[in-house]
Amino acid sequence: MTKNRKHHPQSCIQRLTLPRKDGGRGLIDIVNLHNAQIANLRSYFHNKNTSLHIAIVQNDHKFTPLNLLDKTTKQSNEITISNQNKIEEWAKKSLHGRHYRDLNLPYVDKKASNEWLRRGELFPETEGFIFAIQDQVIETRNYRKHIMKTQNAIDVCRKCNNPLENIQNITGSCKTIVQTEYKHRHDQVANIIHQELALKYNLIKIPRTPYYKYKPELMLENSTHILYFDRTILTDKTTHFNRPDITLVNKIEKTALLIDIAVPNTHNIQSTVAEKITKYTDLKIEVKRMWNLNTVTIVPIVISTTGVIPTMIHDSIKTIGLHKNIYIILQKAVILNTCRIVRKFLQID
Ligand SMILES: [Zn+2]
Repeated sequence: MTKNRKHHPQSCIQRLTLPRKDGGRGLIDIVNLHNAQIANLRSYFHNKNTSLHIAIVQNDHKFTPLNLLDKTTKQSNEITISNQNKIEEWAKKSLHGRHYRDLNLPYVDKKASNEWLRRGELFPETEGFIFAIQDQVIETRNYRKHIMKTQNAIDVCRKCNNPLENIQNITGSCKTIVQTEYKHRHDQVANIIHQELALKYNLIKIPRTPYYKYKPELMLENSTHILYFDRTILTDKTTHFNRPDITLVNKIEKTALLIDIAVPNTHNIQSTVAEKITKYTDLKIEVKRMWNLNTVTIVPIVISTTGVIPTMIHDSIKTIGLHKNIYIILQKAVILNTCRIVRKFLQID
């Protein structure tokens, strides 16, 4: 797999044979199968008390690979490695274990975070690459200096001079690509949501187009709804944050949703959700008053750069009335974009 670029040589080996729903690649553990087979056959012969079986056992002194005469060898559970064992090994590792710990945070939906894997729609190369990103073994300058211990290596970001070029700096916090690469990834998520809302409320008549080709209209309106994309909302009172990604007004029920999207690094997902809500509170009050609405709701849609899903996303999706599985499409778009960003970033050096 390494030779064919489907598994990074420094990536976590335990993840290869763990089930996909648990964050692994789901390959068959052939060593385990082999060892289990030996243990099963040995115990079969040792427990059968017919004269034939007894004769075979007595004569097999290193005559077959089962070596049946020696009854001291180990039982199945002693020579095979359980998934629980592998998970513990993975969790223990200082670099590889970080993604494991992210998946087990109280505000993370572990099952949803591994859904892209369970569905297996990406190329094996892409899977291997996002695993290397999650395992933090991508050769960033920080990795070279502190893990490979390359002499005289510097770990200042090659693009923005941030003192630390680690994988998180590349996937979500390098200042030089905020307006280009990160914006593109963010907009793809916004486009998916915009198109789904436009279709749901009959604001567009054309059939669904692939999200990477979809261009949202700045304003769509019919007799029941208005949908704004990336529109500055002018208010009487100054509000510092007055440009949510998507604004949906329900004219009949007199309600509005202020939808804002973010793709932060995993360690920032919790704070990003809180930040969105505080940021738009002034706007929410102003919009409710100016447009004479019954309710205005701030809806943060947050997915981590490596596809980790916070549990709150399900509430957000429910609030905006989209299908509960829409997050799977968002997750795939984010993962593909993060892979593209990291590849592009590293080619420059
Ligand atoms: Zn940078």
